[in-house]
Formats: sequence, C-alpha cells, structure tokens
Amino acid sequence: MHNGFDYKKEGRGTGSPIVRCAIYTRKSTEEGLDQEFNSLHAQRESAEAYISSQKESGWKLVLDRYDDGGFSGGNLERPALRRLLDDVEARRVDCVVVYKVDRLSRSLLDFARLMDRFDRRSVSFVSVTQQFNTTSSLGRLTLNILLSFAQFEREIIGERTRDKMGAARRKGKWVGGTPVLGYDVDPAGGRLVVNEQEAQRVREIFRLFKRHRSLLKLVNQLEARRWTNKSWKSRSGVEHVGRPFTKPTLRSLLTNPIYGGKVEYRDTTYPGEHPAIIEPALWEEVNADFRARQRNRSDAARTKQHALLAGLLFCHGCNRPMIATYTAKRGRRFRYYVCQKARQNGWDSCATKAVAAAMLEESVVFQLRKALSSEETRRELQVADSEWQRFEEGDPGALVRSVVEHIVYDGSMGAVTLTLGKGGDS
Ligand SMILES: [Zn+2]
Repeated sequence: MHNGFDYKKEGRGTGSPIVRCAIYTRKSTEEGLDQEFNSLHAQRESAEAYISSQKESGWKLVLDRYDDGGFSGGNLERPALRRLLDDVEARRVDCVVVYKVDRLSRSLLDFARLMDRFDRRSVSFVSVTQQFNTTSSLGRLTLNILLSFAQFEREIIGERTRDKMGAARRKGKWVGGTPVLGYDVDPAGGRLVVNEQEAQRVREIFRLFKRHRSLLKLVNQLEARRWTNKSWKSRSGVEHVGRPFTKPTLRSLLTNPIYGGKVEYRDTTYPGEHPAIIEPALWEEVNADFRARQRNRSDAARTKQHALLAGLLFCHGCNRPMIATYTAKRGRRFRYYVCQKARQNGWDSCATKAVAAAMLEESVVFQLRKALSSEETRRELQVADSEWQRFEEGDPGALVRSVVEHIVYDGSMGAVTLTLGKGGDS
C-alpha cells in the first residue's frame, strides 16, 4: 500500500538494515516547571520508547547521548547539538529522534537549515509526539507549518484550561460565562441560584413554544410583551441590558439543558448542581422537537463536514480544492488534505501537494480564535453567541462553516490564508 507517506527512507547506505538512532533532548532554563515533559530525562524516555517500538524496522539507539540542559532553542549554539551535527556529518547517525519538534529548534530558519544538513547525509528526523517525519517532502511541509505558528505553545496551555473546565462541567458545576434568564450567579460563590421572577417567564416561554411550535410566532409574542433576554451586571460593574429575543437567541434558550437542571459538555449532559426551572418532561418534549428538525437539516451535511475544512480549502498554486482523505498505517488513521490536481495529475504537478489535517486545522482554529476574541469583530461577522461558545468549548465546526469563506494553502511556503466573512449563512 504505497501512498506517498513513506515511514522511513528505503535503501539507505551500505545495505545494512540497521537504523542508528540518536536522541536529542533540550530544555532551556526559563521553561516553566508546569510543562509536562520538562525534564531531559522524560524527553529521552519517551524517545527511547518510540525507538524500541520501531525495533522491527531495524531502529537501534546509539550509545552517545545528546542532551542540552539549560539552552535556548532560539539558536544553534548548543554543545550537544554541535556534537550531534558532527556525528551526522561523519555518518555515524541515520535518524534523529526528538520528543517534540521545538526541542531541536524554535527558529523556522534554523530548522530548515538543520533539515537540509540532515537531508544531505540521508538522515531522517522524527518527532515522537507529532506523528510525521521528514522522510518525505510532505513530512517536511507539515513541520514548517507547525513552526511558523510558534504560538502553539500558548494555544496548548489554553487547551488545558478548557479541559479543566470540562472536568468541572462533568461534575455538574456551572463554570461561568454569560448568566441566562432565570438564574443569577450566587455572589457568595460561582453557582447558579433561581431568580424566581425570571424563572416564571422562562416557564411561560416553554409553555408558549409547546403551544405554537414556532420560533417566529414566539419572537413576535415576546416582543409584544416587551420581554427581553437577561439583564445583568458583571462583577466589574458593567451593566448588560437584555436584548429582545431573536430566533437564534430563543432557540438557545429553549435548548439550554440548564433549565432542566443539567450541564452540557461536548454533546453530553450531566446532572447539574443547580435546581431545574423546567420540568424534565416538558424540557424533553420541547427538545425532542428541536432534535428532529436538526437531524433533517444536518444529516446530509454531516457526511460532507466530517473534515473540518472540507469544501473550504484550496491549493494556492493550482487554485483547486484540497480534498480531505486519510491513510491508515499501523492501525492509526492519518488524515490529510490533498490538492485535487496533485491527486489527478501526480505529485509533481503541484507544489503544495498535501498537508496533515490535524496540523492545518489546529492552526486555522488558532487564527480564528485570535481574530474573533474581539466581540466587535464577532458582531461584524455576525457570529452567533452560541457558535462562539461551542467554538470555545472545542467544537469549532459550526463557527468555521458560518464564518470562513475560503482558506488558501501555499505548501511551498507553509502559508495559510483565511478569508472570513460569510456572515451567518449556512
Ligand atoms: Zn495544487
């Protein structure tokens, strides 16, 4: 099953099947202790485990150690790295293994130079925690993209914070955010208490929807009653005035599991710490209705949208779509996007060829988060609050589809260009 993703170089050197692997580790003094793999030892252990998992392919650890403790990845002035490069030049090493790409270098330019030197000596490069390597031109491409987004470090930290929030939600805790109609935040601590006056309105809204089964009718009725969404004051004292209901805000009220006494996290609901406002049976009845509508609308779309950027991604050089596909290797699925032209006319017809899906998707999500963290930008692009919230909770699909017009990827530069601004249309 040859598919262009060679795992290691074939036909190396003098016919010896042994691949001599050198592990390189690095830690700078300023790197925080909160990093999971902060010690040289841990980096090395992980790389060793990886090498021994490749034993059948002839991978063998060399005796020399290349450990740079207390050195920055911003330049190449590191004693162990110097030694490693000497050994590469002397053809004493066939493969360099690191825990993470940035251990080798944090500079894109230096990284490219190192890859070049490795290449000239037919030395391959493997990053244990990033499932690709440079033994094919594609592997190198994805590495460049990764490094051109050095902010990933910060992004990963953000990811962990969100995971902590996930753990709290699974326990039914309210983890903050905009308060919803019917509840107030207990000033004594971050929990929800029922605001009885508002709760009565919420109950009436559910009853009205049950009767009319139409969001539009209900919007009009609430407008006639001059009922608005929640007004509240933030802890810093900023006054938020409740806005009149629209179809989307009404839908998010009616589908919010909070009213049934529950907390939702990534499509699963958990019993909440707070009391319900709506009888579970009524909540279920109303929401069964929404789910049925949703299903009809999204069934066809879902298959197409399995890959986050499907239909949005184009090859810079060829101006053709890049198609989501995958290859299975050693029981692992490796997803990537491939230029349509490259697939039809051969790899040589296109400079971009293909890109690892996870890497590209992460960088797109990162760029979007940066751009849309401003409320003003979100308003300009008509991003619904619910979409933004789901995005922040790690489910970016809806927002990406509603706000991204197209993405152009230039494989020879590793450059991603996002064009935003479809304005809420599906
Ligand atoms: Zn192309």
